[in-house]
Amino acid sequence: DAELADLGTDESSEEAEYDNDPQPVVAVVGRPNVGKSTLVNRIIGRREAVVEDVPGVTRDRVTYDATWRGRRFTVVDTGGWDPDATGMALKIAEQAQIAAELADVILFVTDAIVGVTDADEIVGHVLRGSGKPVILAANKVDNQQMELEATGLWSLGLGEPQPVSALHGRSSGDLLDVILDKLPETPKQRFGAERGPRRVALVGKPNVGKSSLLNKLAGQERVLVDPMAGTTRDPVDELIELGGKPWRFVDTAGIRRRDRELQGADFYASVRTRAALERSEIAVVLIDASEVLTEQDLRIISLVIESGRCMVVAFNKWDLLDADRRYYLEKEIDRQLVRVPWALRANISAKTGWHVDRLVPALETALKSWSSRVPTARLNAFLTDLVAATPPPVRGGKQPKILFATQASTEPPKFVLFTSGFLEETYRRFIERRIREEFGFAGSPIEVTMKIRE
Ligand code: GDP
Ligand code: GDP
Repeated sequence: DAELADLGTDESSEEAEYDNDPQPVVAVVGRPNVGKSTLVNRIIGRREAVVEDVPGVTRDRVTYDATWRGRRFTVVDTGGWDPDATGMALKIAEQAQIAAELADVILFVTDAIVGVTDADEIVGHVLRGSGKPVILAANKVDNQQMELEATGLWSLGLGEPQPVSALHGRSSGDLLDVILDKLPETPKQRFGAERGPRRVALVGKPNVGKSSLLNKLAGQERVLVDPMAGTTRDPVDELIELGGKPWRFVDTAGIRRRDRELQGADFYASVRTRAALERSEIAVVLIDASEVLTEQDLRIISLVIESGRCMVVAFNKWDLLDADRRYYLEKEIDRQLVRVPWALRANISAKTGWHVDRLVPALETALKSWSSRVPTARLNAFLTDLVAATPPPVRGGKQPKILFATQASTEPPKFVLFTSGFLEETYRRFIERRIREEFGFAGSPIEVTMKIRE
């Protein structure tokens, strides 16, 4: 019976030799007692492995080597915790976060008999924001009749639940096939390996100085030949070395080509802007500082906000400003850019090159903020103090409580507050502001949403 096969013992596992190639990592998460250890043991094929019948016995994060159909991968059991601890939700969120960070694929184990619990929902929430492939295992489906129970797990919003019985091995081969399917060809480079050049979108209304800036940046420094340029599609990227590092300026063909203004410049600009933002991590929004801020400038800024990218606003043509204009510009900025007080600002002249070198530190700061993560414990300690000092306004005679909070994702940073009731928008914004004050995030948008627990 193939389904009952002990999975880790397919022949190739015996021959698998140690080598230095990084292996893809599958992290196993789930609340205590759903059968994680049993499933891990089945995956790695270790019969003698101990399964604690005492729920929630704390163990360290352990990694095992596994092989299935000749493919090797590493399984990380993210461990257990003390389920009686009051900080249960916190621990769960942390565990899921750690898993999401270190894994190529996440195996989220749930108990089909018990169904979806609050803890499962929290994990689901964190995992959905992780950007990693998630496989939802519905464990303890020991027989055909139990399959129906597994369908309830669809509500986690993680796609199709994979029914499995870790204990008896039922459908565990199918589960491993699904895992194999999601393993990346080249596993994520770990241990501080370099990521590719950061991707920058240079956006702004026509004639604001985009191509001048691009030329200045490219002219001042070495232009690197992009092996991909021209070979794929129209939006050609340029790799430009700035501050000793290559940066990828995306969709520069649209900036270089001058024919665009002939046909509906405004429309073209917004289509191009969207496309460039889509492919970028950070936007440099150019604004003509010598002229009054226009609707189009604000529309472009809105597009950047919508995209969730981090942002540097570069006020260009600074060489044309006199004291008068400078004064009015400050007023306009205060009035018009209230939505993005977090955006980093640089005053430059693309024409003369004045202060163009200040763009790189701004880009680096913004990107760092965009990718940063507040540890769950720190976030919750901070919020506990904050709420104690300034409790949320009472609504309908009830005092809503923040049960706990977690940063569900980075790039952009998104925070989720699990609350016992509705928080006024002003209070939510207050928290958002205080999170910024406490943890920084200069140059990056952040999102704070709430989820009401019944
Ligand atoms: P963990 O805390 O998530 O690591 O869970 P364990 O692997 O320690 O399993 C908890 C309990 O569930 C143990 O008593 C297991 O024997 C039981 N269990 C695990 N998998 C299955 C399964 O597929 N079917 C049934 N019926 N019980 C299971
Ligand atoms: P794009 O349409 O955004 O690519 O704008 P261009 O780079 O083509 O610039 C439009 C016009 O503004 C050109 O005549 C540039 O020489 C001029 N320009 C660009 N940057 C500056 C600047 O910093 N100072 C001044 N005085 N003129 C600039």
